[in-house]
Amino acid sequence: MFDFSDDFVKESGKGMYSLMEQLYPICRSITGNGVRETLKILSKTVPLETKEIPTGTAVFDWTIPKEWNISDAYIKDPKGKKIVDFKNSNLHVLGYSIPVHKKFKLSELKKHLFTLPDYPDSIPYLTSYYREKWGFCLTHNQFDRLEDGEYEVHIDSSLTDGSLTFGEYVIKGKTDDEVLISCYVCHPSMCNDSISGVVLATWLAKLLTKHKNKLHYTYRFLFIPETIGAITWLSLNEKNVHRIKHGLILTCVGDSGGFTYKKSRAGNNMIDLAAQKVLTDSGDKHRILEFDPFVGSDERQYCSPGFNLPVGSMMRTTYPDFSEYHTSKDDLDFVTAKGLGGSFEQYLMIINILENDRTYINLNPKCEPQLGKRGLYDVMGSQKNHEEFHKALFWALNFSDGSHSLLDISIRSSLKFDVVKSAADALCKAGLMRIK
Ligand code: ZN
Repeated sequence: MFDFSDDFVKESGKGMYSLMEQLYPICRSITGNGVRETLKILSKTVPLETKEIPTGTAVFDWTIPKEWNISDAYIKDPKGKKIVDFKNSNLHVLGYSIPVHKKFKLSELKKHLFTLPDYPDSIPYLTSYYREKWGFCLTHNQFDRLEDGEYEVHIDSSLTDGSLTFGEYVIKGKTDDEVLISCYVCHPSMCNDSISGVVLATWLAKLLTKHKNKLHYTYRFLFIPETIGAITWLSLNEKNVHRIKHGLILTCVGDSGGFTYKKSRAGNNMIDLAAQKVLTDSGDKHRILEFDPFVGSDERQYCSPGFNLPVGSMMRTTYPDFSEYHTSKDDLDFVTAKGLGGSFEQYLMIINILENDRTYINLNPKCEPQLGKRGLYDVMGSQKNHEEFHKALFWALNFSDGSHSLLDISIRSSLKFDVVKSAADALCKAGLMRIK
């Protein structure tokens, strides 16, 4: 379905990386202008719809919080020199910090400072969404250099009634059955966690839009703040979630590590089988993780027992297995165009299976049909990998009994999905099979 030699696919890594460069500097949080600015940039590539849900709205057991915005923050040392500056890195401020402008003795200030002693060059990423406080994050090396005296602390932020903002984009396919592609737009300047998933979702949306007349499924793209955004979307769309037949959470897809697939809660949904098949067929080293309701992203909401949606997550190195995770080291050097491009192809292969997996009926089930007299040997002769194709003809015929899909057959036979699909197409053309 997708031409992997197409320029759009070949250049995808560079395109996504360049979009990431635009998004990286923005200070995002679960609400506020950073999310709006991010969605505005994405809307130049994908015509997404921006939605605003007011502060105070009840969403299941949660409430949309106040909106947080920030324009500046710093700490000045006793000599008046700025030693920590939000303008150098937006990670310096504890996310959702309340405003403050006051002088503190070092001992008092230290109660509001956060560092990572094990990674003394990294600024940690920390937030306090639901407890009003203020704080600064700095490298442990910076922290060690602080001398006694009075420090001026300034955080020019606001926490007011406003809204939670998210983006949604739908590509209508031939059926109302949906594939959910969900990513989160609430992390400030970090690349692999969060932004890599955002740029990948944007590129998938761009490519699928080009193919929209051929799509079997309807594709729903969500650009939401993590956790509270997924809860909000599920709360607003509860009546329609039954349409979601497959789903993926996109994050941690830009580093150079091998692939990891985290299964949906049920673990045996078609999305789980398709993702694992793509990984097996790649021949590359990979990991499969069972669903985990504690360590994870928005699958924790989509796969909560009241929804139990078929949503998994294909990543490279997973959170929190890379030391750069939730620090200033998860930057533009940590992700690469090549890493992003490889992930894009991996996702396209999964979508290719979802789009083409069908169950067929063998119309000549009593003993093997004679393939030669139907010209199938000629087809085989023209196939590059005709031996595999030959095997696939027999597997497709035998298991197309109405209860095994092409994906089932490709898994059972260890043949590549596309080879089994080509065999099924040839058998249909020869009048030996039909779609159930
Ligand atoms: Zn994160």
